[in-house]
Amino acid sequence: MKAFIITIGDEILLGQILDTNSRFMSSALAGIGVETLKMVSVSDKKEEIKKALEEGVSSSDLILVSGGLGPTKDDITKGVLAEFFGSQLVFNEEVYGWVREYFRGKTSAMNEYNKSQAYLPSACIPIKNEKGTACAMWFERGGKVLVSMPGVPFELENLISSVILPRIKRTFKCSELAYKMLGVYDKPEAELAMVLSAFEDALPSGISLAYLPSPGYIRLRLTAKGAGLAKLDDCFEKLKQSLGGLKYAVIKSGDNSELLERLSKIGTVAAAESCTGGNISAMITARPGASAYYLGGVTAYSNEVKISALGVKREALEKYGAVSKEVALQMAEGVRRLTGADWGVSTTGIAGPSGGSAEKPVGTVWIAVSGRCGAKAEKFCFSSVRERNIGKASLTALQMLVDFAEENRP
Ligand code: ATP
Ligand code: MG
Repeated sequence: MKAFIITIGDEILLGQILDTNSRFMSSALAGIGVETLKMVSVSDKKEEIKKALEEGVSSSDLILVSGGLGPTKDDITKGVLAEFFGSQLVFNEEVYGWVREYFRGKTSAMNEYNKSQAYLPSACIPIKNEKGTACAMWFERGGKVLVSMPGVPFELENLISSVILPRIKRTFKCSELAYKMLGVYDKPEAELAMVLSAFEDALPSGISLAYLPSPGYIRLRLTAKGAGLAKLDDCFEKLKQSLGGLKYAVIKSGDNSELLERLSKIGTVAAAESCTGGNISAMITARPGASAYYLGGVTAYSNEVKISALGVKREALEKYGAVSKEVALQMAEGVRRLTGADWGVSTTGIAGPSGGSAEKPVGTVWIAVSGRCGAKAEKFCFSSVRERNIGKASLTALQMLVDFAEENRP
């Protein structure tokens, strides 16, 4: 079964908005095992919308359409769909009731434009939109399904999760998908592929392995469907064994939430940041409840602040330079002393694009962690791109901190 996604709106093609709807729709479909064949964005022009609909219907079983359902004149999707399905726009009493219900208790009053939202192609089954006035429309023809939804992201997302997805599952009898993920640190993708080559060759049918590189680590995702579902747990254990001594962590969502969750359990934490410029602090405090364990941080960009705020020795800066093991260690220790935290973490490096040398090229970052048990520092060579260096250094620092604290739990 294949799906086709169409997003409608001049705003998307003008680059005024980011098409987040396509991503939401395709990832929702992936979650129920439906593969998206293609995603297209088209302007609010009848001919363009028609061409996209034709391509969708001729190539795929399910076509999801977003946008252009509003009450204003620039929203023409309904008219185009009516024509496409050879039907008329007719007034729907039930849908009019939904529109009136939506306005009940609201400060803005309903007008003729809003009433026009009750005109729908006679060929569709209307689906109530709890978050807005434009309902979704479900069309079926020749075993294929087309669903048109409003463009406003929170309306579309709510409709998909609460009604459309369950209905797609019932209609197409989709098989469930399950997956398990882990993150592997300190290993380039190609080397990891070598390590896992025998494991991959022996994968049972119904299970696939994907490499998803992220800043600081590579996510390995095992996806199971059909006959593979029963073998997923066993296969995941084999994957862990195949990694030998490589450092990994089991992750669930693929973002940083697992790492931050682990961080929340190690004790109190403080950060001394040079090249990451406060990014570590921002990552930690993005998680609600961070005040329970995050004491604070110092963005010590200049040598003077490294000395005055963190107690870094001037001699160390002069002898080894700011980007050095000694300075990283003194920064991590210094911030721990300053805040009284159980654990300190620090970064000092050359984010780029300039400032590198033959000895310390752009991307060189020293990261240190310290605790009552002692301290350690490691040197990394990330990339030549500033944003990537900041992102990778931040994530790697958090990872090092959590690993170090868990290994040396008092
Ligand atoms: P409305 O009733 O608001 O007019 P609509 O169904 O007509 O809804 P559009 O007019 O196409 O939808 O878009 C409404 C708003 O939703 C846009 O201004 C835009 O901010 C957002 N939006 C539309 N399409 C997308 C998309 N593909 N991705 C993200 N946001 C979108
Ligand atoms: Mg609109």
